[in-house]
Amino acid sequence: MKGIIRIAVDGPGGAGKSTVAKAVAARLGIDYVDTGAMYRAIGYKMREEGIEPDDTERLEAMLDDTDIDFADGDIILDGVVVNDKIRTPEISKAASMCSALPQVRAKLVDIQRSMGMKKSVIMDGRDIGSNVLKDAEYKFFLTASAEERADRRYKELTEKGENVSFDEVLADIKERDHRDRTRELNPLVMAEDAVEIDSTDLSIEEVIDRIVKEIE
Ligand code: C5P
Repeated sequence: MKGIIRIAVDGPGGAGKSTVAKAVAARLGIDYVDTGAMYRAIGYKMREEGIEPDDTERLEAMLDDTDIDFADGDIILDGVVVNDKIRTPEISKAASMCSALPQVRAKLVDIQRSMGMKKSVIMDGRDIGSNVLKDAEYKFFLTASAEERADRRYKELTEKGENVSFDEVLADIKERDHRDRTRELNPLVMAEDAVEIDSTDLSIEEVIDRIVKEIE
């Protein structure tokens, strides 16, 4: 690989983006940026501090006073590792809500763009190929049926001991899809020059191989 390359992986929640992007990063020896984790961290902080989405003043003060970074695969919010705290159904909802707020998107998109300028990265999210890294060298759009995505997320949550039902998880996925696709700012859309991969009937390994093959 010559020079800096940027790889964008977008798609709806539960399509396997994080797992795939992490593995591709390891195979190519480049950094992985999980932008969903950044929205989750802000959603988490808003809940912790009891900030309502329409309280612009407090929201902006909080954002000015917030530091988000990654180190060795961990997400660091204001100097503290918050990996586990942000992976709950409540924070999924909070992240989805806060991701529609212009101030939140402006701050996170800025950080993401600067992360994509320094070195080669694979970044996953909803608006990476269509907005954050519009000139990324490679763009992928990963999909899977809502039922398949709910099934994967349900297994992930129950393995962690979360007490949820499949129907709840499916309803959550559908609600987040709707919000992500219909929000005014940077909605979930496939970039025109992205390669679409439907992972409903593919294993994670098959998806990783397809992406790596395309790049190499
Ligand atoms: O990918 P993940 O499910 O962790 O993302 C959490 C939420 O963050 C999503 O539901 C979506 O609303 C939001 N998000 C976004 N733009 C991104 C990444 C995530 O709006 N680039």
